[in-house]
Amino acid sequence: MPEEVFEFLIAPLQEAVLRPFNVSSSSGSQSFLSTFNTITARTSPSISPISLFLVRYLGTSVLFFLGVFSMHFIDSHSHLILDRFNDDRDEVIQQAFSNNITHIVQSCDNLEEIKENLKLTKKYENIYSSVGIHPHEAKTWTNTSKEEIINYSKEEKVIAIGETGLDYYYNLSPKETQLFVFREQVKIAKEVNLPLIIHTRDAFDETFEILKDEVRAFHELPLRGVFHCFTGDLKAAMEAIEIGFYISFSGIVTFKNSLPIKEAAKEIPLEKILIETDSPFLAPIPHRGKRNEPRFVIHVAEEIARLKGISVEEVGKVTSENAKRLFGIV
Ligand SMILES: [Zn+2]
Ligand SMILES: [Zn+2]
Repeated sequence: MPEEVFEFLIAPLQEAVLRPFNVSSSSGSQSFLSTFNTITARTSPSISPISLFLVRYLGTSVLFFLGVFSMHFIDSHSHLILDRFNDDRDEVIQQAFSNNITHIVQSCDNLEEIKENLKLTKKYENIYSSVGIHPHEAKTWTNTSKEEIINYSKEEKVIAIGETGLDYYYNLSPKETQLFVFREQVKIAKEVNLPLIIHTRDAFDETFEILKDEVRAFHELPLRGVFHCFTGDLKAAMEAIEIGFYISFSGIVTFKNSLPIKEAAKEIPLEKILIETDSPFLAPIPHRGKRNEPRFVIHVAEEIARLKGISVEEVGKVTSENAKRLFGIV
C-alpha cells in the first residue's frame, strides 16, 4: 500500500531531515513539503508503490539539500587575528566559509590590530573590519588617535567604528579615560558616517547617556550601530532599538542561566537582531569552554530560532540582511 509505505518509511525521514531547520507550519519549506506530498498522493493511483517510494525519497533528499544550501549566516563580530588562531587561522576561515558563513566582520581593539585586520580583509573577499579602540585599551589613546582612526576608516573594507564603549566590569582603563575615548569615537562615527560597534558592560546607563547626547547634538544625521555581545535585559534592548541601534547576540544567549538575555532575544523584532561569535571567546553550547570559531554562530541562530519558534533558516536570512544593511555590505 503506497500510503503505508509513505507513513512508515518516508514521513519519519522527512521529519528527521527537516527537524534541524525547525520548520514550522507557516514556513515556506513546510508548505512546499505539503504541496509535494499532495501532488504525489494524487498521482499515486497511476504509479506503482515502488515508483511512489522512489519519487518521495528523491523529493525528500532534494528538500534536505535545498534546506542545507539555503542556510547562511554572517558572523558580525570576530577577533581572528589573536594568537589563539596562529596555528590554523586560514583553516578556521575556510571552514567557516564552507559551513554556510557568508561574511565575517573583524572587530578592532586598538590601532595595532587594525593593521593585521586589514591584511585579512585583503586576503579574503568576505572579511570586513571595524577600526577603533576598545574600552579596555582606552588608556592607549594619544593625541593622534583621532586622526589615525579617521584615516583607517577610509579604507575600502573598514565598515564601522569600534569596538568602543564602556566596560565598568573590568575597568582596565580609568573610567574618565573610557568616557572621553568613547565620546570621541562616537563623534568620529558621525563625522565619517559609519556605524558604531558598541561594547558595554555594567555601564548601560552611561553608554545610553553619551549616545543620546550625540543623537541630540547631531539629529540631522542619526547615529547607528550595534550593541555587540549583548548582556542586558529586554528594557535595555528596547532602549537601544529606540535610538536606532541593533542588538547582537553571542554564545551567551545559549547559556542556561542567561534568562534576561534569552527574554530579550525572544521579544525584540528579528529585524533588529545580529548574531556573532566574538571568537575566540564565549563559545556557544555545545562548544562552551573551547575556542570559539565563526562557524559556531549557527548555534546562536539555533537558540534564537528556538526562543522565537521560527526556523534557523529564517534567523540566518534576516540577521544577514540586517548586518548587510547596517554595515553597507553588498
Ligand atoms: Zn566586546
Ligand atoms: Zn570583541
